[in-house]
Amino acid sequence: VLKGKTAIVTGSTSGIGLAYARAFAAEGAALVINGFGEAEAIETIRAELAATSGAAALYDAADMTKPDEIAALVERAARETGRVDILVNNAGVQHVAPIEAFPPERMEAILAINLTSAWYAMRAAVPHMKAQRWGRIISTASAHSLVASPNKSAYVMAKHGLVGLTKTIALETAQHGVTVNCISPGYVWTPLVEAQIPDTMTARGLTREQVMNDVLLAAQPTKEFVTPEQVAALALFLCRDEAKAITGANLSVDGGWTAA
Ligand code: NAD
Repeated sequence: VLKGKTAIVTGSTSGIGLAYARAFAAEGAALVINGFGEAEAIETIRAELAATSGAAALYDAADMTKPDEIAALVERAARETGRVDILVNNAGVQHVAPIEAFPPERMEAILAINLTSAWYAMRAAVPHMKAQRWGRIISTASAHSLVASPNKSAYVMAKHGLVGLTKTIALETAQHGVTVNCISPGYVWTPLVEAQIPDTMTARGLTREQVMNDVLLAAQPTKEFVTPEQVAALALFLCRDEAKAITGANLSVDGGWTAA
């Protein structure tokens, strides 16, 4: 389905981003992956993606807090693979604390990585997509783009903002063959979720099991974590021609969380 196309996925060295990259590679897309991690582990992922797709797979270390590096990543994709067809804004971080104990620099970093980076990446990618008259922009928002939870002020404001950005750029590109959407997962079992368990234990005075069952899965009526592959399958659908009428949408994959 994606042979001859190039997909950029930010924050794809782990978790949901890696699942997107694998799903696109399985359909023959060239990939530009991004994110932090050990050089050796990243090279293993990069080589695996190239072997799967039979197309180029590049790693770009752009830091999503740095606008110049974000623009350079997009231009590198265009230069080295010839195209920019799919942009997935996925890099994200979390910090859990009540507002009065929330370090301002953590709040600023969450906004930069989870929200502002998507604005810069879209700004760089849209001209290529408009010129080709084909493009797909997908941002990983969250159930927290629709509802809030206590102690996640920065994350919730960033994810709500991503939905507004998505709607705006969907309108700006609507007549250019480009769609712009958010996918909003509930709790997906990834390193990001695992890492916030200790902070939530501290913030709420709970055990690990209580955080898993009473906090995380409490909100998810299915009582199951979403898998990264389930999220990636929706992204792949959004890249199909059948999905060209879906734009400006925020699509939930949350086990019923936001229905409650
Ligand atoms: P993860 O921690 O496994 O992956 C995050 C990725 O972002 C990693 O590749 C990491 O290296 C990268 N990253 C972090 N800071 C970066 C920076 N400054 N520059 C470039 N890359 C950076 O987390 P995940 O759970 O796979 O999360 C991916 C996205 O999904 C995030 O936007 C997150 O908010 C969202 N999300 C996750 C869940 C969940 O339950 N896991 C639910 C809803 C939304």
